[in-house]
Amino acid sequence: MKNPLVEIDGDEMTRVLWALLKEKLILPFVDLKSEYYDLSLENRDATGDAVSAASAEAIRKYGVGVKCATITANAERKTEYHLKALYPSPNGTIRAILGGTVFRKPIAVSTIRPGISTWKKPIVIGRHAYGDVYKAAEMEIPGAGKVELVYTAHDGSTQRRQVAEFSGPGIVQGIHNYDESIRGFARSCFLFALDEKLPVWFAAKDTVSKLYDGRFKAIFNEVYENEFRAKCDKAGISYFYTLIDDAVARVVKGEGGMLWACKNYDGDVMSDMIASASGSLAMMTSVLVSPLGCFEYEAAHGTVQKHYYRWQKGEKTSTNPVALIFAWTGALSKRAEIDALPGLSAFAKRLENAVVAAIEAGVMTGDLAGLSRPAPAKIYNSWEFIDAIAARLGA
Ligand code: NAP
Ligand code: MG
Repeated sequence: MKNPLVEIDGDEMTRVLWALLKEKLILPFVDLKSEYYDLSLENRDATGDAVSAASAEAIRKYGVGVKCATITANAERKTEYHLKALYPSPNGTIRAILGGTVFRKPIAVSTIRPGISTWKKPIVIGRHAYGDVYKAAEMEIPGAGKVELVYTAHDGSTQRRQVAEFSGPGIVQGIHNYDESIRGFARSCFLFALDEKLPVWFAAKDTVSKLYDGRFKAIFNEVYENEFRAKCDKAGISYFYTLIDDAVARVVKGEGGMLWACKNYDGDVMSDMIASASGSLAMMTSVLVSPLGCFEYEAAHGTVQKHYYRWQKGEKTSTNPVALIFAWTGALSKRAEIDALPGLSAFAKRLENAVVAAIEAGVMTGDLAGLSRPAPAKIYNSWEFIDAIAARLGA
């Protein structure tokens, strides 16, 4: 390696697997250069959460990061870890600094068939990671009265629009997004599609949400025409806009093999649909592509808390480390690409091939056993699984 990548450690079972896979699959083969940030809940507490923002700044500086799953603190965790405060989600903190889009893609294994029989190629979801209902202002309306949207410009001038005239109790919600955030979303999608050689689909509901979703559609189109059309034409990549309900129908009946750009909520819902129809959350890659030109690779699942408690009692759990391994190979490949290191790039590809070949040969953790055809002869625990990959890689 020439330049370091940013290594962000996390919590619970994924932290256990992180150390194990580094020891067995990375360090024996790669002269690893990394800048390490410990985002365990204990260390976030000890640093007053300063370490979370520092890790994002480091990704901005070096361009590539790899992140373990981390606990998002809640009231239960506050008691469990004797926390000084309820810290925000580290993913939220990192996304707020880097901006951009989260891309999730199933890891294709020939012995694990998707739940939807027409799918031949993976479907990648690009989820806008800012705004809409995730940053909404909500209000309970106690009884009769008028609700309005009011915009006050810095010069004091105002614009108003009536939302509803209530004759009894109800609810109201105000959502927003910024042109700059939508533009960043569109740019990240086209950059990712060019990287992966995939056609781009974007869907919203501009027939109903004429102004709001209409703005998303217009900005996507503007970014495509002004910044990407020539590059996409050259690479043979098409751009297609349709209504969200039409997109869902086409995706389910189609062969897959596209990047499906989704607004924040659509991406939340559709990525879980794609993940479960494709197998498991542990068989998904996830990368945050920032319009600042940096990349953060992670697993799509959480810290696998229940397995961790069993591991603490001495059990060798059968937790699937594939998404964590692919987070590392994603980050190493990106580092290799930026720094022009063909050896590192070849290693990352070999490690991915070793994982896929092992699963296809019947070496797998318990979560995959029920999905695999033929069913495996035995279920490997995480330690046996990683040893089997290391043996293949060594050979
Ligand atoms: P989770 O860690 O994703 O696990 C939920 C269940 O899914 C597990 O109990 C397990 O099912 C199955 N599973 C997930 N990953 C697996 C793997 N690699 N191998 C095998 N099975 C796997 O979600 P959670 O338990 O609800 O959340 C735990 C913590 O993770 C929470 O504190 C949450 O804040 C955090 N979280 C972090 C991130 C992130 O950092 N990106 C994302 C989501 C959640 P079985 O028990 O049936 O085996
Ligand atoms: Mg979700």
